[in-house]
Amino acid sequence: MYYKKSIEDIFKEFGVNECGLSQEEAATRLEKYGENTLKEEKGVPLWKIILDQFTDPLIYILLAAAVVTFIVGEYIDTGVILAVVLLNAVIGFIQEYKAEKAMEAIRQLAAPKAIVLRDCEENRIDSRYLVPGDTVNLFAGNKVPADIRLFEIVELEIDESMFTGESAPVSKQTHPIEKDNVSIADQKNMAFMGTIITNGRGKGIVINTGETTELGKISEQVKITQKESSPLQKRLVDFSQKVGLLSIGLALLVFFVGILLGHSLIEMTLFAISMAVAVIPEGLPVVITITMAIGLKRMANRNAIIRKLIAVETLGSCNYICSDKTGTITKNMMTVTMLYAGGKKYEVKGTGYEPKGEILHNGKKVEADESLKNLLRIGLLCNSSDLYEENGEWKIEGDPTEGALIVAAHKNGLNVEKQEYKYEFIDEVPFSSHRQYMATLQKKDDKCTIFVKGAPEKLLNFSNNSENRELLDQYSHMAESGLRVLGFGLKELEGECTDDIDLEYEATHDLKFIGFQGIIDPPRESATKAIEDTKKAGIKTVMITGDHKITATAIAKQIGIFKEGDIAITGSELDEKGEKFLKENAEKISVYARVSPNHKLKIVEALQDRGNIIAVTGDGVNDAPALKKGNIGVAMGKIGTDVAREASDMILKDDNFATIFQAVKEGRIIYENIQKVIFFLLGTGFGFGFLIVLALLFNLPLPFLATQVLWINLVTNGLQDVALAFEPGEKGVEKKPPRDPQETIINKFILKRLILVGAVITAGSLFIYWYYLNQDVSLDYARTAAFNTVVFFQFFHVLNARSFNKSVFKMNHLANPFLLISLVLALIAQIAVINLEPLQLLFHTTQIDLTAWLYTILTGSTIIAVIEIDKAVRKD
Ligand code: ADP
Ligand code: MG
Repeated sequence: MYYKKSIEDIFKEFGVNECGLSQEEAATRLEKYGENTLKEEKGVPLWKIILDQFTDPLIYILLAAAVVTFIVGEYIDTGVILAVVLLNAVIGFIQEYKAEKAMEAIRQLAAPKAIVLRDCEENRIDSRYLVPGDTVNLFAGNKVPADIRLFEIVELEIDESMFTGESAPVSKQTHPIEKDNVSIADQKNMAFMGTIITNGRGKGIVINTGETTELGKISEQVKITQKESSPLQKRLVDFSQKVGLLSIGLALLVFFVGILLGHSLIEMTLFAISMAVAVIPEGLPVVITITMAIGLKRMANRNAIIRKLIAVETLGSCNYICSDKTGTITKNMMTVTMLYAGGKKYEVKGTGYEPKGEILHNGKKVEADESLKNLLRIGLLCNSSDLYEENGEWKIEGDPTEGALIVAAHKNGLNVEKQEYKYEFIDEVPFSSHRQYMATLQKKDDKCTIFVKGAPEKLLNFSNNSENRELLDQYSHMAESGLRVLGFGLKELEGECTDDIDLEYEATHDLKFIGFQGIIDPPRESATKAIEDTKKAGIKTVMITGDHKITATAIAKQIGIFKEGDIAITGSELDEKGEKFLKENAEKISVYARVSPNHKLKIVEALQDRGNIIAVTGDGVNDAPALKKGNIGVAMGKIGTDVAREASDMILKDDNFATIFQAVKEGRIIYENIQKVIFFLLGTGFGFGFLIVLALLFNLPLPFLATQVLWINLVTNGLQDVALAFEPGEKGVEKKPPRDPQETIINKFILKRLILVGAVITAGSLFIYWYYLNQDVSLDYARTAAFNTVVFFQFFHVLNARSFNKSVFKMNHLANPFLLISLVLALIAQIAVINLEPLQLLFHTTQIDLTAWLYTILTGSTIIAVIEIDKAVRKD
């Protein structure tokens, strides 16, 4: 039992030292113990995808049609229908399997990561590559990646409710527990896979991974991940089921009307079957899945990883973005450029993390006085990050703000090895967004010193300087130029130096104020452009930050979030003025500063109350409620915590604000492509429906046989609707206003055009059919001609469907090569079905002469003319 053993024994037993495992050893162990994953994390199993292909109500109707054709003795038709059902299932399966694989790959991009020590270096790796013996770091907001024996902790608290049912987080310890049969809840020096770190940080040795962890033991049965479909997909499945019912209803109606008109039973049965098959959009569910998968992949390529499919459609309606400042809008590349200590102002030269550059006072290099030394020393010692050089490049492990402070200290020519920096670490109050400061307790020559850094208001308060004009002026002066300002203070303690000292109390009372450091964190170049783009797209962006109001406003002005007349407000001002103020001024407020995560939740709620659809970003532990509440919760891939990521709908791989806008754009394209696919598919259904009813009323023989209808719906159409899913998106999607969330996918505009399309297809093919019925040709000939007309209507119409507003003649038809390829393939298939004997037999077609080809193609092309006129007259 590992909780009983001492740390030394654990290190020995697992063959690790303070440098962690070596990479080779880790690789060997990975081979031996397997990946650190649970069975339940596997995707949708194969058999389920296959079965799904046959559980579609549309398939039932086709199967019913097969039975009926069999009863009436049309055995060839029965065979063809069954073959089509099978083929449809195979194609559906392949497509869905591919889509599932693509989504799986996207999910992997968002897989949890762990910081592990190997070969003396800390690396960020996928948690599934952890092996027993690895040394891992634990941080607030992350999930424990494996079962771990802790050996170093700072205020570490873990929510273990998943094992113990106890909702309060438990504090951890490191020393061995000398008892037998200690329950999980009492193994205080252990951290268990899947539990959530709610506070502090720690280090430990991995004891068990994957299935052998406590979590692995309780989740033994293989749980299947439910295939997730978005509300839109559900609505569409629902929709196609309704269409299925409608088609049955129509078929029955046609059947009885025909009988009443005196047609024979067999004839009317065939009529009814054709009707039912014609109206059903067989290809729809599969195409929607494909369109989604293609869109998600495109988003992933642009660094936006969708975790919940609902985000895809919500993105299109999003009209408000609440964005963090640090890291999302700014580069998170912090550099200290200004110092203030002992009444003197200094300028710091150099950029980035390279510790080179001079510290100047009034433009001249000066010897550092005691205040300046203290200022830099606190920055260096009250710090939990590291600066290191790798391949000639200087990098930061940890918080960029802290990295900048280390760099600044080094620029004064000082380093940790020097005697004046040799302190022994005793205790720490870690930084949190809520606390807004950090303190360390350090020992030197048996004397204790407390170093504190944090938001200047806090530090001025701790040192009773809240009213000090000189300091306040300095502070706002630095903040006005957009600098992120930190205050610094220290306190030398009398008496013995032990870890019994109440650090939190001491650090916050009677502190000696030392000075400020001003850090620049330049805005991302792409952010300015993206803010402008979001404006054009009808989306308002506001900044929510923990930083100071003046700093935040300065940055917001630079990138165009804050305009003349806007309001910037702080968290405490919000508390004072109340929610009513927030609701009344929501449109004018563009900067929320010094807010804590619970303010964020309130802001999101207030904006939602006003009917806005909100994307909200967040990275910390406490951001989870706001992320869940927002219509689209956006977490960060690089700096974010597991908790934030799990609460989110979308993850930005590059933490970049501009990526949100890209996702909005792709979301709109996906939605439009789905609209286009449906528009294209339903047009034929409408046409067929009208035509069959008219034929019946005019007392003509059945114009299409069920098998021909299937051919059109699945072969010639089937190729093109998939191709439509690859439409790259039209120019200007990003400039339209957000879509009304209440709008149905087939809006009035589209419905009217659908009726028009149906009418044209009906009129054209009825005309051809009627014409050939009156010539001296067989019924099969007339049917083939009508059949060919509908197919060419489709060939032309798919070009119309590429845009709801843009003329066919103004489109770039090379932009979607899939569509061109699908058209060529469909054309070859169509020529084959009319001319090859075996296919003629199956589909009751016959050769038609060149004039007939010409007539049918010409008739088909009229759909372009009609829709061009509609496009010119009516605008979406
Ligand atoms: P944001 O990242 O939006 O600026 P934070 O909550 O991270 O907000 O920081 C709030 C404030 O706390 C900062 O403006 C700064 O003054 C202070 N601060 C930030 N990081 C640290 C840190 N590591 N140690 C001490 N104080 C910090
Ligand atoms: Mg921060």
